Amino acid sequence: MNKKERQIETELAHFAEDRAIYEGAVVPPIFQNSLFTYESWDDISNAFDDRTNSYIYSRGNNPTVKIAQEKIAKLAGGERALLFASGMAAVSAAVLHCVQKDGHVIAIKNLYGPANNLLLSYLQEKMNLSITFISGKEVAEFEQAIESNTNLIYLESPSSGVFSLQDIKGVAALAKKHDIKTMIDNTWSTPYFQKPLCMGVDLEVHSCSKYLSGHSDVVAGVVIGSKQRVNQIFRREYEWLGGRIAPMDAWLIIRSLRTLPIRLKAHASNALKVATFLENHPKVEKVNYPGLKSFEQYELGQKQMSGYSGLLSFRLKTPDLKEVKAFFNGLKIFKIGVSWGGHESLIYALAISYIKEMTPKQFDATGLAFGDMRISVGLEHVHDLIGDLEQALQLIKE
Ligand SMILES: *Cc1c(COP(=O)(O)O)cnc(C)c1O
Repeated sequence: MNKKERQIETELAHFAEDRAIYEGAVVPPIFQNSLFTYESWDDISNAFDDRTNSYIYSRGNNPTVKIAQEKIAKLAGGERALLFASGMAAVSAAVLHCVQKDGHVIAIKNLYGPANNLLLSYLQEKMNLSITFISGKEVAEFEQAIESNTNLIYLESPSSGVFSLQDIKGVAALAKKHDIKTMIDNTWSTPYFQKPLCMGVDLEVHSCSKYLSGHSDVVAGVVIGSKQRVNQIFRREYEWLGGRIAPMDAWLIIRSLRTLPIRLKAHASNALKVATFLENHPKVEKVNYPGLKSFEQYELGQKQMSGYSGLLSFRLKTPDLKEVKAFFNGLKIFKIGVSWGGHESLIYALAISYIKEMTPKQFDATGLAFGDMRISVGLEHVHDLIGDLEQALQLIKE
């Protein structure tokens, strides 16, 4: 069979692994070394001539890290991927690559919180950036927001809080016309279900701490794009800011990528059943999940995603905090915690953070309610998950 015809499941299992040079070991070793030695002056000098590809020092390239990067680039349809110590290290490297001092950024409202803070509370002050936040539901909104100094359009589709979508192809085409760079946080879908680089986006970023690692044992991030662009990031933000991934974590990601397709299909199947159960439950007011036919932007999702992962949110009908807590604390299988995308089911309530930082009036102004729940649907049996939600919902008195 022609190698080019291999399906992605096969590539994730074997691509970029040269077992002959690891004594046939079926799993590659962890190259736990900080530097690489050379035979001669000329050898190390030549390595520096091609420093974006050479093994010189593990703040740059490392063989274990490279295997994981090549698999991810293959999956995303990109030419090169760079793995970082966290999703935020990847996000900040990509943003800094794109922006200029005194420049302008267009971003969606409800952007991942720390990314929002990076732009608004940090780069705005440090680099005199101006930022326009828009809902992003229509391409025309982006067009109206463009200014003469716009350097970057920052997308997150679906966003991880309210799951709003942007027309990725439409926005990328608009940005190209105006010579503006585009980046997307594709963590929710993963490149298995959505391929923004194939739709014209310049840079794709992920928190690998979610589905790409999938076992809740890694914090990492990745930037993917063209060789030219990612090599520029390698020479500047990667080497100079130094947020590289540890070889051990890259090795865990190699392990995880082999099962990404089957894990995601299982997350998707469980999540749709859980979302449908919640949608039909009398104590639930509303469910936000792009895979439901009732979802506001269902058609757009169908157009640009090939599947839906396992993070969703819903609103309990009760406005009473005591009742909400009874439900929240009454869950037995869903664990209470932040993050998502791992094997285990989780629940979190946004109000927990907000009511510390805001007056009741400010909280009301956000449009959030105490009963807004976010769940990450894991890989447990779906009957047990629905049973757990059902028994906890019964703890809410009418
Ligand atoms: C978690 C997350 C990040 C940040 O990733 P870390 O690995 O936690 O730094 C970025 N974007 C989204 C959508 C996330 O959920």
